[in-house]
Amino acid sequence: MKRLPGKLVTSAAFVGIGIVALLGARFLFAGQLPSGVGKPPTGTEPVPASTPYVEEHTHFDSTDPGGTVRSALAALGRQNATMIFFQMPPDRFDHPGRFDAEVLLPVAKKYPGKLALLGGGGTLNAMIIQSAVTGDVGLAVRKKFKERAEDLLREGVIGFGEMAAEHFDGATPYQYAPADHPLYLLLADIAAEHGVPIDLHMEAVPQDMPLPAGLKSPPNPPMLHQNIAGLERLLAHNPRAKIIWAHAGADGTGYRTPDLCRRLLKTHSNLYMEIKTDPQVPGMNYPLADGKIKPEWLSLFTDFSDRFIMGSDQHYPEPKGTEQRWQELVLLFNQLPSDVRHKIGTENIARIYGQSVASYLSVAKN
Ligand SMILES: [Zn+2]
Repeated sequence: MKRLPGKLVTSAAFVGIGIVALLGARFLFAGQLPSGVGKPPTGTEPVPASTPYVEEHTHFDSTDPGGTVRSALAALGRQNATMIFFQMPPDRFDHPGRFDAEVLLPVAKKYPGKLALLGGGGTLNAMIIQSAVTGDVGLAVRKKFKERAEDLLREGVIGFGEMAAEHFDGATPYQYAPADHPLYLLLADIAAEHGVPIDLHMEAVPQDMPLPAGLKSPPNPPMLHQNIAGLERLLAHNPRAKIIWAHAGADGTGYRTPDLCRRLLKTHSNLYMEIKTDPQVPGMNYPLADGKIKPEWLSLFTDFSDRFIMGSDQHYPEPKGTEQRWQELVLLFNQLPSDVRHKIGTENIARIYGQSVASYLSVAKN
C-alpha cells in the first residue's frame, strides 16, 4: 500500500499537468465544436468516448440551473455521453451554501432521457452527519429521515447521492459518519424497496489512522476512523440495496487499492463502483500511468466489468482554464476492451438504475 506525502502528491499533480501539456494539445480545449465520434483527434479538439456512455456523477452551479442545463446538454454530444446524472454535494446543516435536488429538478426534468438527478446530499446526508454527532437515532429522527427520502423519490430523483461517510474538507466541510450508521441502514432499506441506488463518498480507511500528510487539521480531524468493516456491514445489511462506492481511482488516503476494491467486489454482489480520474488531483493509486491504464486496474475493470460505471465528478458549467475531468476518464474508457466498455458505459447503468433509465439507453432495445 503506497502512501505518498501530500507535497509529493501535489507536485506529482503538477508534473502530470506538465506531461499532459507536453503530450499535445489534444487534451486541451479551445472552445471548438465537438469532433465526430470515431474521428481521429486533431488540434485542440476534445476526444469523445468511442462508444456511448452515461456520465453518472457530476455536480453543478446551484445558482445557475439554466446555465447548468445548457452546458450539460451541449456536453452530451461533445463527450458522446447518452445521459448525464447530477448529484448533490454531500453537506452539513451548518454550511451556508447547502442545497438539494429541488434547485435543479424543475429545469432538468424537461430533458428526460438526457439529464437526471440523484438527491439527498444536502438533506439526508446532513441528517446522517448530524445524527452521528448527536447520537440521536430516535423514532422522530428516523421518521423525518424516511419522509424526506420518500419526498425526494416522489419529486423524481433516481437515487440517493452524493452521500458521505468520510469526506475531507473541500467544496463542502469535513464529514464523517459510520457507513453502518442506523440511518444508512434505514436508507439502504428505503433504496432497496424503491429499486434505487445509494451513491457513497468514503475515503478508504481500513484501520484508524492519522490524517494523511498534506491535509490540514483543522478543518479535518487529526485522526480518521476505520470504515471498511462498517461499509461491509452496510452491504450485508440489505443485499437488495445497491451501493455505489464513488471515486475509484481518486484515492485520498492511499488505501483505495485495486486489491481492496477486488476483495470487496468479490464478497458483496450489491457493491458497485464509479471510476474517477482527475489528472489535476490524481491522489494515490491512480489508474493511469503515462496515459495508459495500469495492468492491475485493467484486470479489475475486466474481471468485474459488470460492477463499474463512469463517474468523473465533472462540474457544469465546465470550469474555465482547466482540464475537464470527463476528458481523462473518457481517455481511460476508450482503452477498455469493447465488451467491457459497453458494460461500463451503459449496460451496468441500465441494470443499477432499472427501467426508468434503461428505457432511454440503447441497451434496453437489444
Ligand atoms: Zn465525492
